[in-house]
Amino acid sequence: MFSLFKKKCAVCKQKAREPRKYFDDHNEPVVVCAQCVLYAERRAFRKRSA
Ligand SMILES: [Zn+2]
Repeated sequence: MFSLFKKKCAVCKQKAREPRKYFDDHNEPVVVCAQCVLYAERRAFRKRSA
């Protein structure tokens, strides 16, 4: 059971369908699903530049 390592959206905790890479407010790399991108940017998540 290694489901912890599946890419989950950092905002809604669902499996991210189109994950976008961000850093959260603790500077941790996270993924955010397409639905939550606006919310993530309001939470001061920073885009990880490719
Ligand atoms: Zn989400």
